[in-house]
Amino acid sequence: MVTNGTDPYLKIENLWKAFGTFLALKDISLDIQDGEFVCFLGPSGCGKTTLLRAIAGLDLQSKGAVSQGGVDVSNLPPSQRDYGIVFQSYALFPNLTIEKNIAYGLENTGHSKSEINARVSELLELVGLSEQRKKYPAQLSGGQQQRIALARAIATNPGLLLLDEPLSALDAKVRVHLRHEIKELQRKLGVTTVMVTHDQEEALAMADRIVVMNNGTIEQVGTPTEIYRDPANLFVADFIGEMNQIPAIAGKSGTLCFDAEPLKCAPHSFTEGQEVIAAIRPEDVIPHGEEGTSENEENSMTVRVEEMEFLGSFWRCRLQHPQFGGNELIADFSINAVRRLDLRAGMDTKIELPSGRLLAFDKPEV
Ligand code: ATP
Repeated sequence: MVTNGTDPYLKIENLWKAFGTFLALKDISLDIQDGEFVCFLGPSGCGKTTLLRAIAGLDLQSKGAVSQGGVDVSNLPPSQRDYGIVFQSYALFPNLTIEKNIAYGLENTGHSKSEINARVSELLELVGLSEQRKKYPAQLSGGQQQRIALARAIATNPGLLLLDEPLSALDAKVRVHLRHEIKELQRKLGVTTVMVTHDQEEALAMADRIVVMNNGTIEQVGTPTEIYRDPANLFVADFIGEMNQIPAIAGKSGTLCFDAEPLKCAPHSFTEGQEVIAAIRPEDVIPHGEEGTSENEENSMTVRVEEMEFLGSFWRCRLQHPQFGGNELIADFSINAVRRLDLRAGMDTKIELPSGRLLAFDKPEV
């Protein structure tokens, strides 16, 4: 199925899913373009698997529509939809050899035995496991089994690849390695892919676009950079990466007030005097050392370094400033900066909060 280049390949319109009286999906609408790699990311129970299962037809939506390649598939059974799927638990047939596992979906498709054999060889080569074809799943590692599951999912050249937490069961090193492999394979094949994950790093590393979900709704859709650098709200800011959150009062446009002087911040639309949450990522705090480095530093202040923790590739520092009303500011400083500025726990140092990286969000209701 091919789209005309402007229509989305996968279109989800006003999708609702109820389990009894519980609403797992609330009015989800989303367009996914042909060839895109999209990750559904969110905390446990937010509805990401339910959404994937609705796309697959494994759990039908209560209301709303799904179309793929311009065809309404909302009420089609899984067998009549055009996708391959990989689950967290590999789900290989333990009593079949690797080659038979991969060939499974190709049988009854009208292909000859030799055509199927050639396709299995091609797929085994694609996932780098040609040597293993005569083995049984139990004789392979978790990472190898998941590669086989992937080969099986793409065997029929589906228009859509669905991945349900495919890396969660693997240990950290294999996971990182395999996520590169999956991404490369996806690029090579150009297959539209939707992956469910609760691992933000995985989503940031693999996705063209991330759909951040919470409580059955979509909080934000954007590229990994957009989601990380310009979170739409405090939920997204807090869920992805580390974020300092300090109560503040909105000042005139582009300023925030703590106790003392207003600080410049990224443009916001709050009215002056409104209670907000000021947020800045730890890595955006710039250290300037005891003396500071220039007169013109923006949002410059002197803080006490309360504690420093060495985290291998950087130092995580807890900073105190009376202006933050007892809230500490977490800052991640590079090893070079700590060495160059001779930063130590217990000392006072100047820091800068770059205005473009100081964000203001609605204060959550309690
Ligand atoms: P996780 O990362 O833990 O898998 P998730 O975001 O994928 O979470 P879902 O599996 O989509 O979450 O579930 C969303 C909500 O719907 C949860 O509260 C879950 O308990 C509920 N739910 C899912 N399937 C069913 C079901 N078959 N019957 C009743 N409730 C269900």
